Amino acid sequence: MESKRNPKSQMKKIFIKTFGCQMNEYDSNRIFDTVKKIGYQKTENQEDADCYLLNTCHIRDKAKEKVYSEIGRVKKSFRNEKKPLVIIAGCVAQAENQEMLKREPYIDLVIGPQSYHKINETILNHEEKKKKIEETDFDAVSKFEYLSKIKNETGKVSSFLTIQEGCDKFCHFCVVPYTRGPEYSRPFNQIINEAKYLADNGAKEIILLGQNVNAYDDNGKRLSNLILEIEKIDKIERIRYTTSHPKDMTKDLIEVYKVSKKLMPLVHLPVQSGSDNVLKLMNRKHTISEYLKTFDKLKKINPKIEFSSDFILAYPGESEKDFQDTIELIKKVNFINSYSFIFSPRPGTKAENLVQVDRKISMERLELVQNLLFENQIKMNKNLENKIIDVLVENLTEDKTKVFGRSEFMTSVIFDGKNEHVGKVVKVKIKNSNRNTLFGELIHDTKQKVA
Ligand code: SF4
Repeated sequence: MESKRNPKSQMKKIFIKTFGCQMNEYDSNRIFDTVKKIGYQKTENQEDADCYLLNTCHIRDKAKEKVYSEIGRVKKSFRNEKKPLVIIAGCVAQAENQEMLKREPYIDLVIGPQSYHKINETILNHEEKKKKIEETDFDAVSKFEYLSKIKNETGKVSSFLTIQEGCDKFCHFCVVPYTRGPEYSRPFNQIINEAKYLADNGAKEIILLGQNVNAYDDNGKRLSNLILEIEKIDKIERIRYTTSHPKDMTKDLIEVYKVSKKLMPLVHLPVQSGSDNVLKLMNRKHTISEYLKTFDKLKKINPKIEFSSDFILAYPGESEKDFQDTIELIKKVNFINSYSFIFSPRPGTKAENLVQVDRKISMERLELVQNLLFENQIKMNKNLENKIIDVLVENLTEDKTKVFGRSEFMTSVIFDGKNEHVGKVVKVKIKNSNRNTLFGELIHDTKQKVA
C-alpha cells in the first residue's frame, strides 16, 4: 500500500514547521525522507503547500493553545485557496490526540512521535477515504525499524541522530514520559549504519540524541560503545550527545573521555537546581554531591572540559536558601551555554497543581541566575580573544560574505572563510566576541598553538 502514486507525475509539496527540541528537528527530517516515497517534495513557502505539517512541542508554556492559534493563522492564509492537508505531529499531538480533531475541524490527521512510520499509509488512507485519522500508539520499535530502511538524507555538516527515545524517570514537572513513552534504545547496528550513511552524505559532526541519551542500552551496549564505534568512521570529526541525566553518567561514559579523540569537551548535563531539597521535590533522583563527583571526575580526566546545564527557577517549594544553593553551584561549576526558565506547570504532570512561588520573587531569581550565567559566558568568550581555536565550518552566512562554524564548546564562530571551508575543521584566531558569538580570522599557518 506504499506508493500508488507516480512520484514524478504527481509531485505534491509539503511545508513542515518544527517547534521545540533537536529531536523534533531530527523527526521532521525523517518525516520528509518518508513522505518523499509517496511523491512529496519540500517547500519553504507555506502558500505553495498541498500539505501543512506542524511538528509540535509540549515543553513550553501554553503549547496546546499555540498550536490552535498557528492553525488559525494557516486557515486565514488559505482562505481563498484550496485547503491543504493539515497534519499535527509531535508531543502535543500525542498528548491531545482525538481532542484536536474534535476541537479544530481544519486538522485532518494527528500523528504522535512513535507513529511516524505510519505516516504514508495514513496520508494515502485519508486521500482515499477523506476520513480524519489519529495515530498515537507508542510503538518505537516499529518506528525505528521502518525508518532504518529509509535513508537519512539530511546532508548537513552537523547532523542529528536519534539513538534513544522516551523516559522512565518521571520528574514531576515534565511531560516527556507521557508524550514520548517509556525509554527505548535503538539497535546498535541500526545506529552505526545511519551514522555511516550520514558521513557519506557530508556529515562531519554527529550529535547523538535522546530524551535520556546516556540511558542508552542495547543488550549491554552503552552510549560509550556507540561513541567509540562512530569514532572509527573516518569522515566524522566530532561527536556530541544530548540530553543526558546526571544519574546515567556511568563509569564507562566518564572513562570514554580519556580515550575518545572525537568526543567534544562540552558536557551538557541538566541539573535543574542546586538544592537537594528541590531536587527531591522534583523527583530528580540525583543529589548535588553526586553531580559534583561527576564534575570532578571529568575535570580530572580533562581540565579543558566545560559544563552546560538547564535550570528551573522558583520550582514550587524553592526557598531563598534553596535558591542560594543554586547560585553557589553555578559559581562552583562555571557553567557555560546554559538554559534557565521560571517553573511553569504542565498539564498532566505531578507538579501541575502545586502552589507556585510569588511571581516577583521568581522573576528576580531568574534575573540573578541569568546574569551569572551570562557573565560566565562573556568571560569565557573574552578569554579566547587573540587565541587560536579549532572551528568546524557549517555554512556560509546569509549574506555569503563570511562563514559560520562552531567551536569545540558549541559557541558560534563567524570569520572570513569561503565555501571551500564548509565541512572542514580549520584554525581561527579570535579577534572579538560577545556573549553568544566569537569573531575571528582564518589562520593559514597550522603550526601556531591552539587554545
Ligand atoms: S529525565 Fe528529562 S525527560 Fe525524563 S522526566 Fe526528567 S526532565 Fe523529563
